[in-house]
Amino acid sequence: MLPYKDISKVRITQPYGVKNPRQNYAAGVHSGLDMVSDGDKTIIAIGAGKVIRSQNTGSWGSHVVIKQDDGLYGVYAHLAQRVVNIGNTVRAGTMIGIEGMSGNSTASHLHIELQKSYYDPFSHTDISAYLGIKNEVGSVQLIDDMFADDKAWVMTKGISDGSDQDRPVLRKEIWAMLRRYDEQKEG
Ligand SMILES: [Zn+2]
Repeated sequence: MLPYKDISKVRITQPYGVKNPRQNYAAGVHSGLDMVSDGDKTIIAIGAGKVIRSQNTGSWGSHVVIKQDDGLYGVYAHLAQRVVNIGNTVRAGTMIGIEGMSGNSTASHLHIELQKSYYDPFSHTDISAYLGIKNEVGSVQLIDDMFADDKAWVMTKGISDGSDQDRPVLRKEIWAMLRRYDEQKEG
């Protein structure tokens, strides 16, 4: 589930995993995804779990951390307002707060991040892949939409049989292969 109640006017302003010489990232790269809504700024939980942190401190400003049932820690930072407290149980889609610019932030946006170990910036994992969206600046694009056309063929070398001949392969099959490759890499 995406972190906004209404995703229609949401855009990505800083992708996951990028380097930015003007930013001093604790993990060396951008450990999360920055998103801005030009409409409804209601932030919702992307997965079910329990609120383990809800406070206004440090560079994250007003932020919420949810320990998800899948073991990952979801961080929602720079909020203008928080509506959950430590100990609350949330479902995917439960309102958490309102997008804002508290903490180390120059404009209203949501910094959302997934960590494998709580409060370890180096344990970040690919939030855009988790959300199933394209990791690029601009309006949010669902990856499933990009590959929704089951009959879209592309000509490609080597993928289907290892040969250097061009062969037609379904786009969705290439996507499935890439996804498997990513999963193997993640371990
Ligand atoms: Zn960020």
